[in-house]
Order: sequence, then structure tokens, then C-alpha cells
Amino acid sequence: MPLIIVTGFPTSGKSTRAKQLYDYLSTRITDSKHRLHLISDDSLSISRAVYDLAAVPAHTRSANASEKDARASLYGAVKRVLSDKDIVILDGLNYIKGWRYQLHCEAKAMRTPSCILQIGCTPDRAKEVNQARLNTRAAVERGGIEATDGPEPYEQGNWDNLVFRYEEPNPMTRWDSPLFTLIWEDDEAQATKTFEALWDTIAGDGRKVVKPNQ
Ligand code: ADP
Repeated sequence: MPLIIVTGFPTSGKSTRAKQLYDYLSTRITDSKHRLHLISDDSLSISRAVYDLAAVPAHTRSANASEKDARASLYGAVKRVLSDKDIVILDGLNYIKGWRYQLHCEAKAMRTPSCILQIGCTPDRAKEVNQARLNTRAAVERGGIEATDGPEPYEQGNWDNLVFRYEEPNPMTRWDSPLFTLIWEDDEAQATKTFEALWDTIAGDGRKVVKPNQ
């Protein structure tokens, strides 16, 4: 069963959509043979700080070990469960095209399809979400409000840099297709329509047979 790679700017609504997709797919999997997995930075306790290039000295940036380690953990987690019986949703930035290529090849090696779910959101809107999280954290640190379990914000420089480094999926390439898109404004009905199209393409009657040498 497929690997669904979620991608988008930081704080663009990826986890929200990944959870909606998880709930939708739960209703489509009607037999006990198939399983559904949602893997994310949060599920593997990977901090947003691993993506922060400012946290490592300039001369060692090319060997940003912490981000590499995070990718190794994510890769291992996907590899452990991906099979023809398992649907895996990988909720994360997935912003490097070489990384998406690597995931696509992994799925192919398992003879299962992969696809991309891109979350479209303007940088301004996504920035507001992060800013609100930074404000909440600052208020907690000042003792103004109680700490909550909410998601960790990105440091502003880290956030800006991730948006700058983001490599848009290109549906003309094998590894970025099929590509499905949801934008912030899409309502529940539109999201369901997109999830239906995704299901039909990768798991339903429209599913292509994956040959390892293609
Ligand atoms: P990401 O996983 O990209 O960091 P989240 O899914 O955590 O982003 O979303 C960030 C915030 O924006 C959450 O508080 C969520 O409730 C809100 N949000 C996400 N998508 C939407 C949307 N389509 N419409 C309204 N609010 C949204």
C-alpha cells in the first residue's frame, strides 16, 4: 500500500491535513489485513531545532548532522512499516527533492506506490501561525499563562530559512507524482474530494502496478 509524502512550508497546516487524511483513510480500510501509519517529527520526538542552520557553525553547515540524523530516523521508521499491506502517511516538511526521490525509490523497492500531498499556504499565513506559537511560548516563559502540550514553534530565523530552502514539488518528475494539493482555504468537502482522488489513484481501481525497474 502506498507511501503518502506530505510536504509544505513550516506551520502551513501539514499536520492538520495529515490527521484529516488519516481519519479519511481509516474509513476506507475496511479489512483487517491493511494497516495505517502516521509518522511525523512529533511522533518520533524530533525537535524543530534540527532544521536550524544557525545552530551549527557556518563551516560545518554542509554536515548538518542533526538534520541528517532526523532524516535517518524518519527513513528508518518508514522502512520498518512500509509494505504492500501498510499505508504510510509521512507528515513533515519533506522539502528537499533528493529526499523525496529517496523515499520514492524506497516505496518502489517495496513495489508499492508513492504520492505527494502538497499543502499550499501563503508564507504570510504560515508565518502568522508560527508567530502565534512563539508568542504563546514567550507568555509561558514569562509565567503569564500555563504551559500547554501544543506544538513547538520554529525560531524565526529557522522558519525564514526553511521557506527559503523549500524545493517545490514538480509533478513532471516521477518522484513528485502523482501530486495532490490542498490549500488552507479548502473546506471539508474539498478535502474529502482530494482524499478520494488520492485513494482512487494509489489504492483503488486506478492503481498502477509498480515495477521495480521503471
Ligand atoms: P504544520 O504541521 O505545517 O506545522 P499545523 O497543522 O500544526 O501546521 O497547523 C498550524 C495551525 O494552523 C494549527 O493551529 C491548525 O489548527 C491551524 N490550521 C491548519 N490548517 C488550517 C486550515 N486549513 N484552516 C484553518 N486553520 C488551520
